Amino acid sequence: MARVALAHVAKVYPNGTRALDDCTLEVADGELLVLVGPSGCGKSTVLRLVAGLEDATAGEIRIGDTVVNDLPPQARNVAMVFQDYALYPHMTVRRNLEFPLRMRGNARPDIDRRVATVTRQLGIEALLDRLPKQLSGGQRQRVAMGRALVREPAVSLLDEPLSNLDAKLRVDVRAEIAELQQRTRTTMLYVTHDQVEAMTLGDRVAVLNGGRLQQVASPRELYERPASAFVAGFIGNPPMNLLVGRLGHEASGRVSITLAAGTLTIAADRMPHALPAGDGTVTIGIRPEALTLADARTASALALTVEHVEWLGHETLAHLRASTDGVSRVVARLPGMHALTTGQPIALTVDPERIYVFDREGHALTP
Ligand code: ADP
Repeated sequence: MARVALAHVAKVYPNGTRALDDCTLEVADGELLVLVGPSGCGKSTVLRLVAGLEDATAGEIRIGDTVVNDLPPQARNVAMVFQDYALYPHMTVRRNLEFPLRMRGNARPDIDRRVATVTRQLGIEALLDRLPKQLSGGQRQRVAMGRALVREPAVSLLDEPLSNLDAKLRVDVRAEIAELQQRTRTTMLYVTHDQVEAMTLGDRVAVLNGGRLQQVASPRELYERPASAFVAGFIGNPPMNLLVGRLGHEASGRVSITLAAGTLTIAADRMPHALPAGDGTVTIGIRPEALTLADARTASALALTVEHVEWLGHETLAHLRASTDGVSRVVARLPGMHALTTGQPIALTVDPERIYVFDREGHALTP
């Protein structure tokens, strides 16, 4: 097993597409790192660069202590698992698992030992004599994992491995992968576009957007301290409300935030970074759960109008618009069931400790 380190890696495809820009990222030995971002942000490109299926345009890629930029894929000792499983349909599960080892010319006793180990780890002993078409989606995915793991690779690369499974199975197999990784301590780089999958699976999560790494952190830190407005809006469901606001200084020393729906204030020490130059226009981030129903007379309450309501049983999602401009949209997540009706005016307060401020470039100004 080994760590993977990318230093200032860039990839420009021959047609000029800059898929990855100045990417510096490390997966520690035995770590499961999830790479997440919207479609086309460069996730698969990172995997293909590590696997050696693409050449980096710039930068250095290491597996363990070896610079692998010039090594062919077969010399890198990485295994890849794809969403389409890529099992050989005419071979039994056992033959599928043996295949990569036979190709490498491993001795029979070694092949038997490795297949037995992986079969046990994955709990697929009963499936060994079946053909892929005789397996469920989840079982096929398990065999595909097994075929990667029998090689005892230094690094496993997983490219959206669960996207062909239905929602329920995805949750089960996700838990299995996490458990398997914990047990085997295989270094894994796992790619998904699904932020829920990323947050529930990764020790650490790397968020990529437009070929640029936005933040690498634990799920909790991504949620509580997003480094950019992009991360703030991408992580969390429903996502953080991102609103246009204007900052000002109050005589009290606090910082005022003027929004379409009202004015909020936060303590000056919530803003350790200097206020941006210019007219003070910023992006304000408020998580749906940081909003609380209030009396309309409450100071610094936001004045909103109910647009539509989703009753989910344990909570109510209220989709709202600022009463003044009727344009700015806000989603509030209120515990329990609330009798709200479309067109009803409501007032909401915001926990000032949970207000985020981002500058014009989207960089976080709050810690
Ligand atoms: P993701 O996996 O995040 O969906 P990719 O890494 O596949 O994204 O692609 C990143 C960008 O590079 C996209 O704009 C995609 O269209 C482009 N791209 C991917 N592969 C190639 C290629 N072989 N040639 C040209 N452009 C490519």
